[in-house]
Amino acid sequence: QRILGLESSCDETGVALVEVDGDAPPRLLAQGLYSQIAMHQAYGGVVPELASRDHVRRVLPLTREVLSQAGVALQDVDLIAYTQGPGLAGALLVGAGVAVSLAAALDVPALPVHHLEGHLLSPFLSVDPPEFPFVALLVSGGHTQLMRVDDVGAYEMLGETIDDAAGEAFDKSAKLLGLPYPGGPHLARMAEFGNPEAFALPRPLLHSGKPDFSFAGLKTAVLTQVKKIGDSPCEQTKADLAASTQAAIVEVLVKKSLLALKMTGLKRLVVAGGVGANSKLREQLNAACEKRGVRVHYPELSLCTDNGAMIAMAAALRVQRGSAEPRRDGGFEVRPRWELGAA
Ligand code: ATP
Ligand code: MG
Ligand code: FE
Repeated sequence: QRILGLESSCDETGVALVEVDGDAPPRLLAQGLYSQIAMHQAYGGVVPELASRDHVRRVLPLTREVLSQAGVALQDVDLIAYTQGPGLAGALLVGAGVAVSLAAALDVPALPVHHLEGHLLSPFLSVDPPEFPFVALLVSGGHTQLMRVDDVGAYEMLGETIDDAAGEAFDKSAKLLGLPYPGGPHLARMAEFGNPEAFALPRPLLHSGKPDFSFAGLKTAVLTQVKKIGDSPCEQTKADLAASTQAAIVEVLVKKSLLALKMTGLKRLVVAGGVGANSKLREQLNAACEKRGVRVHYPELSLCTDNGAMIAMAAALRVQRGSAEPRRDGGFEVRPRWELGAA
């Protein structure tokens, strides 16, 4: 079975082709990604209407490119998976509309996929995929959650953020430091030559005893420091603040992951979502987990942020387990707000 996956929940158009052959691990045949970051940068964030229109422009050319890369004809696609939510309603509608129309034209089923399930299962695209069960730390631009994952589709929420997501904390702090959108990777780069102990920033809920998070207060604390250091701080001061911010976020993520591992008694951790690309986070998680005999799995660096491969892979793993519920009636709906595990 060949599965085409379309991702369009936010500001990247992603397309990928995955092949399922019996019980063997699904194989990624080809993928393409078009990021709209440059277009949104002028506005300091994602402009939803511009995002939708750009998905319209990109999705079919990208699909053609992916198919030709794989040497597969459109007629040889057996299933079309698409991101149903959560995300921007207009952006989701483009991917869903195109997927369902293509499926109808080819007379194949269409399968809606949860975007976060895609992130969560993205490490299955690595050479060394995880085994179930595991604890998942999902750290993206819109979500920060710890979950117990027993199988594809068996997700139990252990705790999540009560306000901002970790990626949001990175992006908002970076913006305060004058860095371009999305600021996470820029802040991380700046932090490389900064002193993480230069500024004492809060670690909200660090000792709550629960795997929950709060990052809104950190952003406020960064704002206070930015005001204190004035209009034209030297590069070193800015780097110090960047490093201190990153250290605060990373410390919380590491401590809470360890707590979730302890609560569940599991010895395997999967990290997914854009912030999973952060090298400080990887370094500290690796060190903490090694000490405790815990194996950590990450998606490939390029597959941490949004992409089509994770959507096609999530669909493939569901198809293999017989837990996919594809539709053939040409109908569809998007779910801009949708909790993973909810019906
Ligand atoms: P969601 O998946 O919750 O809907 P999203 O799709 O926007 O949100 P992702 O694409 O998974 O989120 O990740 C984007 C986020 O990851 C941004 O906030 C970005 O700043 C952050 N990010 C990416 N690389 C890094 C890095 N190296 N260090 C820190 N943050 C990073
Ligand atoms: Mg993105
Ligand atoms: Fe995402």
